[in-house]
Amino acid sequence: MSNLMKGCVFNIQRFSIHDGPGIRTSVFFKGCPLRCSWCANPESQNLHPEKMWDNSKNSYFTTGEYLTIAEIMVPILKDVDYYHESGGGVTVTGGEVLLQTPFVVNLLRECKKNNISTACETSAYASLPLFKKLLGNVDLLIMDLKHYDSEKHRSEIGVGNKIIIQNLDYAISQFKNMILRIPIIPGFNDSVNDARHFSLFLREHKVDAVELLPFHQFGKNKYKFLNRQYKYKNVKALHPDNLIAFRDIVKSMGIECNIG
Ligand code: SF4
Repeated sequence: MSNLMKGCVFNIQRFSIHDGPGIRTSVFFKGCPLRCSWCANPESQNLHPEKMWDNSKNSYFTTGEYLTIAEIMVPILKDVDYYHESGGGVTVTGGEVLLQTPFVVNLLRECKKNNISTACETSAYASLPLFKKLLGNVDLLIMDLKHYDSEKHRSEIGVGNKIIIQNLDYAISQFKNMILRIPIIPGFNDSVNDARHFSLFLREHKVDAVELLPFHQFGKNKYKFLNRQYKYKNVKALHPDNLIAFRDIVKSMGIECNIG
């Protein structure tokens, strides 16, 4: 079977409670066009399986494998009762699911055929037609916005934010069931000035609610195990309390704002 009929997946997590409402199965797709310097899933960035060190076994293992829709549906279908009882479902995430849109859309359609609610987590860095195709097959969109300023976005992520904002505008106007999240990264977008500029940006783009995600260090060891440099290795994780001043500025501009 050709890889066109398979998706490159690096994790399928059952009983996930952080990737949307209720109890969910999260399917993590490999490949991302962005290179956020703080990325907590660096093993997700390359669009192919790769070797990673396993410290507990003192040997290498392969992260990522090519799976068919039927293979991914096996664990998903085990928990249908839990999805229905908890208001949960399936979340496709990554990496960036838009890099494998045709396959991901087929998976989402298979979930819908089985009466399973669907969500996606995305950076929305893809052409508008691809983004529309994804949105046409999910019940909930969870989208990240990392910086309001395109040049600052480029400096830490490798690309500007124009395409992302174009897709954000489409989602805001056409797709009401969405959660917009801002990862708050020390020294990149966490200042009082950033909070004011984000608020103005959100108002201008008619966003009425946003969730702030504090920077964490859960991915730190993965860089070591992939033999890669990690720019944020000495940066302290943020506590949710560190984001209160930022949140209050956003709220003072009339935008609902929670710390995730
Ligand atoms: S968009 Fe997400 S997966 Fe891609 S590099 Fe950034 S943090 Fe990592």
